[in-house]
Amino acid sequence: MISKPFWKNKKLDEFSEEEWEALCDGCGRCCLVKLEDFDTGEIENTSVVCEFMDQGTCRCTTYETRQLVVPTCIKVTPQNVAGIEWMPPTCAYRRVAEGKDLEWWHPLVAGEHESIITAGISVKGRVISEAEVSDDDLEDYVAEWPADRGFSD
Ligand code: SF4
Ligand code: SF4
Repeated sequence: MISKPFWKNKKLDEFSEEEWEALCDGCGRCCLVKLEDFDTGEIENTSVVCEFMDQGTCRCTTYETRQLVVPTCIKVTPQNVAGIEWMPPTCAYRRVAEGKDLEWWHPLVAGEHESIITAGISVKGRVISEAEVSDDDLEDYVAEWPADRGFSD
């Protein structure tokens, strides 16, 4: 049983497992393939997504074993979330870790999941699977996503 707004009343490491999982808005942006500039270390997003993401639901198809299946897939925890630089500014875990509230479009606030699509936060319908793109062509898919270059608050 989730008692809202738990994200304002508790610290991240006080969340129950159910609350932790519910905090994910399901945007799918953490599953985008990223490119890192070897010289500058700058990370750019693409419109290519991990082959294990279900593009209909934007959820992982191998969630329980994702770090085994995809060694570069990072399990977000209360301890590491603040240090994951490429986590999108819209990510609920990042926002709460930074002391911010959830936006209106977050399903826990809006009461439904369509809001992340109408707000343009979800990757749904805007990505291609990495299985369909060769590594040599990834640069052609560099893309900016909402708030990649800063967020209003
Ligand atoms: S970016 Fe954050 S909120 Fe969006 S799917 Fe990933 S973990 Fe969930
Ligand atoms: S393994 Fe799952 S959670 Fe990890 S990047 Fe791929 S789709 Fe996302």
